[in-house]
Amino acid sequence: MTTSLSLEFFPPKTPEGADKLRAVRQKLYALAPEYCSVTFGAGGSTQEGTLDTVREIVGEGYAGVPHLSCIGQTKDTIRQRLASYRDAGVKRIVALRGDLPSGYGLGGEFRYASDLVTFIREETGEHFHLAVAAYPEVHPQAKSPQADLDAFIAKVQAGANTGITQYFFNADAYFRFVEDLRRRGVETPVVPGIMPITNSSQLLRFSDACGAEVPRWVRSRLQSFGDDAAAIKDFGADVVTALCRRLLDGGAPSLHFYTLNQSVATLEVLRRLGIA
Ligand code: FAD
Repeated sequence: MTTSLSLEFFPPKTPEGADKLRAVRQKLYALAPEYCSVTFGAGGSTQEGTLDTVREIVGEGYAGVPHLSCIGQTKDTIRQRLASYRDAGVKRIVALRGDLPSGYGLGGEFRYASDLVTFIREETGEHFHLAVAAYPEVHPQAKSPQADLDAFIAKVQAGANTGITQYFFNADAYFRFVEDLRRRGVETPVVPGIMPITNSSQLLRFSDACGAEVPRWVRSRLQSFGDDAAAIKDFGADVVTALCRRLLDGGAPSLHFYTLNQSVATLEVLRRLGIA
């Protein structure tokens, strides 16, 4: 089976973290990823780290893809970032609204990710391939599932090329989202975002924050393993492998892995899928 894959990292905060991430990337390059994306902190702490990490990835011979969020930003700062990304050899961007940490006022010249997509197209034409976020289980701030679908379609109409989803464990939510798009005449590829399971308390905390549903049976099994890390990893790899298999069998165009800067869990899922 040939499956196209992409990998997501976050910018390391320390020199030790950067060394560790370099080693992780070398292991994951064995998967021949189509590209490696690097998140961007809307609050400011990791913004330069995104560019530094992307430059390293490009220097290692892979496509480095920065995430870029617009909330709280001015057109001028976005313009400068686009110029540095272009200079760094970047051809693809994940364009987002982002979330400001509490305590930040809204400010800025952008309201929604669709405004950012419009601006990037106005400023740089078709230079960048633009991916945008998609929410099969509905973004937590959306007025309704229909309004959220409209918001995704607005990003496509503004010029986005692909969607990457928030992670989910319910394949039906993904299939339904794609079906709803197709019924509206939107043929944009939507790549499932996959979160490998390595640590149950972290997963449950993340999921509550971003609105991803961890099914009750998965949640209660994970909790029942207590501190048994091996049992959590084995069960987690089973659940995520079955999800990926269903998504690929159902026509998902590729898979985007939220690696959390670790290689083992992603490699294990792909080994079980017969890809690694
Ligand atoms: P939008 O598409 O603008 O949507 C935000 C909300 O506004 C939604 O509820 C939508 O329904 C609503 N909305 C949109 N347009 C309208 C409109 N015209 N009228 C009314 N309502 C509207 N965050 C980071 O900070 N850094 C990252 O690197 C990062 N990477 C991510 C990568 C992926 C693949 C995904 C799925 C998410 C990522 N996020 C990241 C999280 C993301 O920033 C948050 O989920 C954020 O809350 C929404 O960003 P968005 O781009 O989806 O926003």
